[in-house]
Amino acid sequence: MVKITLYGGVGEIGGNKILLEDGDTRVFFDFGEPFHMKDKFFVDFLTPRESRFGLRDYFHFDLMPRIAGLYDEDYLEGTDLKYTEPEFDAAFISHMHFDHAMHLKYMDRKIPVYLGAAADTIRRSWQITSLGRSDFGEHEFRTFRTGDKVKLGPLEVEPVHVDHSTPGAYGFIIHTSEGCVVYTGDFRLHGPRGDMTLDFVSRAAEARPDVLVCEGTRVSDNDPRENMSEEGVRKRAEGLISATDKLAVVSFYPKDVDRMRSFRDVAKSTGRRFVVSAKVAHLLKAFQGDPHIDAPDPMTDPNMLVYVRHMARPEKVPYENEYVKMAGSSDHVIGSDYVRDHQDELIFHADFMQLTELIDIKPSKGSLFVRSKSEPFEEDDVQEAVLQAWVEWFKLDFQNAHASGHASMAEVFDVVGRIAPAKVVPIHTENPSLFRSCSHQVVLAEKMIPFVI
Ligand SMILES: [Zn+2]
Ligand SMILES: [Zn+2]
Repeated sequence: MVKITLYGGVGEIGGNKILLEDGDTRVFFDFGEPFHMKDKFFVDFLTPRESRFGLRDYFHFDLMPRIAGLYDEDYLEGTDLKYTEPEFDAAFISHMHFDHAMHLKYMDRKIPVYLGAAADTIRRSWQITSLGRSDFGEHEFRTFRTGDKVKLGPLEVEPVHVDHSTPGAYGFIIHTSEGCVVYTGDFRLHGPRGDMTLDFVSRAAEARPDVLVCEGTRVSDNDPRENMSEEGVRKRAEGLISATDKLAVVSFYPKDVDRMRSFRDVAKSTGRRFVVSAKVAHLLKAFQGDPHIDAPDPMTDPNMLVYVRHMARPEKVPYENEYVKMAGSSDHVIGSDYVRDHQDELIFHADFMQLTELIDIKPSKGSLFVRSKSEPFEEDDVQEAVLQAWVEWFKLDFQNAHASGHASMAEVFDVVGRIAPAKVVPIHTENPSLFRSCSHQVVLAEKMIPFVI
């Protein structure tokens, strides 16, 4: 018997945890954290007592499923779930976004984790630049690329690349002893590598799946996200930046390599230089030498610079200190004084956590602030209010240039039509029942209730 159980991503965007069981072989696809997991019972300094009791508080509020043979001994010590040897064979991660990978840290480190080669590069860089705060556990990480096939008991898993707002994103075609299951991960068609998503769709269609587990972030009667292409973002940003003689500050998710490349291109065409943080520089450096990823190198690209912060103890931030040490000798490494004195020559990347740098940079009144989000994160009211307060305080000219990391509802439904599975299981969506308009056989899976394929 082949069973699927969704432990996350049911009726919500993100937090995917999909268990596939074929006889004794048990494999998770994604193991992410829901965006608002803690919001109901915790706030501000009222936080789960994870460092003392591991998963105890999460289990109490059913925020994590109580499953034997899944979690690491350290996280079970303070709970009433006894540690037992792993009863799972592997976890596959579709891409390195928080809502798909973050809970790997709780998973028994004896369970191997499969992920794309580029996703693993992101994982390693993320672990270093978060100074250990983002920890994905000491698993054996095994990498794959499109064309590889992974055999696990009766299962054969075929990862195929898709385009999404981070490199190393995959969907999976899973051949089981009783038919084929396809899982899309997160995908889009309007990105620079929409052709990769089309490769996945045609491979999935050839496999004639019994079940398609399909993301539906933008499946909604009221989709606020625009279908602007990466090229559209680049053009809009270019128009805005070429029309100002002041500093241009841009804000977007720091692991979106496509967006990095777009703003490098905008810098080139507007005669500016694109300034990225040491954290971003670390990731882009990690991608140098990977022929599959077109990542600019801020230390050699004539239109890029690396920004280092003033820090009382830079040795406590080793990845950034590497650049701090180069500050005098490399003309690619700069600090706030340089940005303050060359405002009309620069595009400055500042994600939300970096807004404090504006205090030292002192952008002149009317400087441009382009928010260029691509993530599924819901607008967080608190963050939004804080961001707007900064914009107002510095008298910045606030503009948007959005591009979603996800396919539109029409595109998702078109993909379902082309793959033509016997059954569709919506995931990563607030509106699973809307899938009924694209398929006669929609399974509205309930959280933690297994269904047979
Ligand atoms: Zn997601
Ligand atoms: Zn994603």
